Amino acid sequence: MTTLVIGAGIAGLAAAQDLTAAGHKVRILEARDRVGGRIHTDRDFAGVPVELGAEFVHTSVVPTWEILNQHRIKTHYINQQSDLWIRLPDGRLRTVGEEVCFSGVRALGWPEAQGEESVAAYLRRLGLDAHRAPYKMQEYVSDYGDPEQLSARAALEFMLDPTSEEGDYRPLPGYDRVVQALAEGLDVELGAVVDTVAWGGPGVTVILKDGRAYSADQAVITLPVGVLKAGKVRFLPELPEWKLSALRRLGVATVLKLVYRFEQPVLPEGVNGLYVCGGLPDEWWSSSKGQDYGGEVMTAFAAGAKARRLLELGQEGALEAGLATLRQALGRPGLTPSARTWSQWQDDPYALGAYSMAVTGATDARAILARPLEQKLFWAGEGTASNAWAGTVHGALQSGRRAAQEVLALRNPTLALPELARPAAKAL
Ligand SMILES: Cc1cc2nc3c(=O)[nH]c(=O)nc-3n(C[C@H](O)[C@H](O)[C@H](O)COP(=O)(O)OP(=O)(O)OC[C@H]3O[C@@H](n4cnc5c(N)ncnc54)[C@H](O)[C@@H]3O)c2cc1C
Repeated sequence: MTTLVIGAGIAGLAAAQDLTAAGHKVRILEARDRVGGRIHTDRDFAGVPVELGAEFVHTSVVPTWEILNQHRIKTHYINQQSDLWIRLPDGRLRTVGEEVCFSGVRALGWPEAQGEESVAAYLRRLGLDAHRAPYKMQEYVSDYGDPEQLSARAALEFMLDPTSEEGDYRPLPGYDRVVQALAEGLDVELGAVVDTVAWGGPGVTVILKDGRAYSADQAVITLPVGVLKAGKVRFLPELPEWKLSALRRLGVATVLKLVYRFEQPVLPEGVNGLYVCGGLPDEWWSSSKGQDYGGEVMTAFAAGAKARRLLELGQEGALEAGLATLRQALGRPGLTPSARTWSQWQDDPYALGAYSMAVTGATDARAILARPLEQKLFWAGEGTASNAWAGTVHGALQSGRRAAQEVLALRNPTLALPELARPAAKAL
């Protein structure tokens, strides 16, 4: 059996690993000149790895740990209850465990959402708002932004998932070590920009932008939702309406990271992050804690409306605004970084946004996007994960494994393995 995997992000690599292990002939076609997709570690900005995309392994019970453990990749643990500080509007600094942002609301029995109401509407019904809700809900809103658009049902699937409870872990040698471990031994063609997926014939033929074409029995599509929504890859024949409708309904989050390098530590010992209520941006953390590093790398994270406001300011304006927030929150007006940069995925042609977003009316869209087509097109990627796991590395990883299982369930994988056909460069 031959399989083409489109995209060498975590989902594509996971699918390819499992298929290769089962004896399939697999080739991954990746547009970029690197593997990892939305996992992108920068080693030039500071003396420590800096994550421009994914940074944390959320909780100790997700499948990413199989790779971390197998490859002995060390992590730094962040306890959300005690290691994160909150700067309250009245100026007091508290830990998350002591105070839950504005309100002090702690445990709440989460009632069911009504129909397709938004997170904002749901919270209003409970007498709360996005800034007066238990920390986990605020974290969800912070990750995506736009509570008026977010589906409350999808948010509750996240809130009630056991993996939403614990702290976060940062892979110390860089998240790309996870990617490299998963990519080991795989046939990955870099710089292969897919233009067309023709699935009307007996198998699947994938045509690249440069005209080259590959054929295989089936393809696993791990393209980001932003890329699929924008129609950057053509499907021949067109995808069925139920698939297109799921894509149309899904949103894509706008996310921005501002990153500052300081030559001296900025946060006190034992404090990993700072939530600045009402700040632009409000979420801050140290990206160098746990490293043997004399200075400190501070990362600020914004999503939704806040990210869009910062993007409108342009890179320098956004970095200035962020620095002003940090200076005020720490009461250090003279705080000056030695270097600064930002990371945004909106304009990245191979992402076109940060991650998928279950807006109202799209609670079921990810599950629909995940459904295979005629035993030829299989779907993986964070946007096909469950609402509790989407937008994460572990969700993407699991989706790749799920897609591989769907392919393997098709036929007996121990059949003879034909070579991947490589027709001359011509359009079909
Ligand atoms: C700023 C930011 C912070 C994040 N933080 C976290 C975090 O802390 N923890 C966490 O768990 N998750 C986080 N995430 C989410 C996580 O990074 C993603 O969910 C995950 O990496 C997605 O993997 P994927 O394989 O689905 O997609 P991708 O990694 O995007 O892989 C898809 C691949 O397809 C390729 N591609 C696109 N178009 C084409 C084409 N035409 N032809 C060929 N190839 C193409 C892309 O180049 C890419 O390599 C974050 C994401 C962002 C953007």
